Amino acid sequence: MNSLVIRLSSLGDVVLCGAVTGGLAPVSFLTRRAWAEVARALPGVEEVLVWEELSADSLRRPWKQVIDLHASPRSRRLCLGLGAPVRRVRRYDLRRRLRVWAKAGAPPPPVVQRYAEAAGVPVAPRPWIPAAGTGETLGLVPGAAHASKRWPLARYAELARRWSGPVVAFGGPEETAELSSLGVEVIAERGFQRTVEALARCRRVVGGDTGLVHLARAMGVPTLALLGPTTAADGFWSDGAEVLELDLPCRPCSLHGGPSCPIGDHLCLRGIEVERVWQVIQP
Ligand code: SF4
Repeated sequence: MNSLVIRLSSLGDVVLCGAVTGGLAPVSFLTRRAWAEVARALPGVEEVLVWEELSADSLRRPWKQVIDLHASPRSRRLCLGLGAPVRRVRRYDLRRRLRVWAKAGAPPPPVVQRYAEAAGVPVAPRPWIPAAGTGETLGLVPGAAHASKRWPLARYAELARRWSGPVVAFGGPEETAELSSLGVEVIAERGFQRTVEALARCRRVVGGDTGLVHLARAMGVPTLALLGPTTAADGFWSDGAEVLELDLPCRPCSLHGGPSCPIGDHLCLRGIEVERVWQVIQP
């Protein structure tokens, strides 16, 4: 019998499920269509169920157990009446919000540890999505869903100028315009496989608090995450990720980033100079 694992979104969260799917094998993984290919690549995943294509009876079969790693009202409803034991991740919403609102309290445990507690298996060592990474390429991930999590594009361009080997940038036209004019290869959003192949060529990937950097980590590619409104201590990067972040009293200022800096200066990321990043990543 399979274990049913539920994580509906988003890229980084689905990737981090790779910490436990191998230990739960065989797994049927329920997620949104946008992340189906990612889920299919995780260890132990035998089948992907697409949330948008579910019928009333799709989930009505004997499950060994249901592991709800989303723990939203929607995922809770999906678990009702499945007739299998349900184990659910602890979200620590109140503690996370207190950290943002009051800058107080202990941070929650790392996300992968919370997943492991819910799943009842240990955190698997990376890589979870093996890919031969032998290249000399520098990978840049300048975009992020929320603008306040983006390090200035001109600084990514400066890294590209300094790197003596090939450079590849991941993102859309707006996020990569300045980079493509420098001759940087741009991998736009043209599919998971192409993205994985490009990441596998990277010797190092630099980016913000985004799912693509989690994906690179899951593949075992050395990464450097530049964190601003979110912090390494607050869960997603607190399991040994290499990060650069500044000690500012306004951090963390949001759970997931926002459209702009609430106090206007965006010092958390503007204060991370190119030279500091270069000292970490230079060959
Ligand atoms: S500088 Fe402070 S307030 Fe502004 S985005 Fe960064 S962490 Fe938030």
